[in-house]
Amino acid sequence: MTNIVIFSCPKVTNKLGCSCSDCFNELKNRTGAYEIYNSFQKLELIGMINCPGCPAETAPERIVSQIRYLDKFNVDKIHFTNCMSLYCAFRYNYQVLIEGKFPRIEIVQGKYEAAALSCVSEPLVQQKM
Ligand code: SF4
Repeated sequence: MTNIVIFSCPKVTNKLGCSCSDCFNELKNRTGAYEIYNSFQKLELIGMINCPGCPAETAPERIVSQIRYLDKFNVDKIHFTNCMSLYCAFRYNYQVLIEGKFPRIEIVQGKYEAAALSCVSEPLVQQKM
């Protein structure tokens, strides 16, 4: 059993109204960033967390506390949503932060190609943030 948490970007979920359904679909079908799992592996989505928002300086403590709470369910991997690969300049900082605090948890970055092609219908650059 691999326990998975999805880490999303509130700019995309809140501002663009993304329901994360493309990421859920990839998880279910083991495509995109989830193709690392074979069809025999049992995957369990145990939670969703999101970034407290830009700028990243405000984020670290809340991210750590969210993961600390979820880790009572034994988090194995945290998948960053595909959209973060497109929009988040801080995604590798977050990876270093999380892996430093929770060495047992592996971070999997989302796929840029998937975000660019499907799940973000209207680029954030056209949105008034
Ligand atoms: S820091 Fe990254 S994940 Fe957080 S709101 Fe900004 S772009 Fe999204």
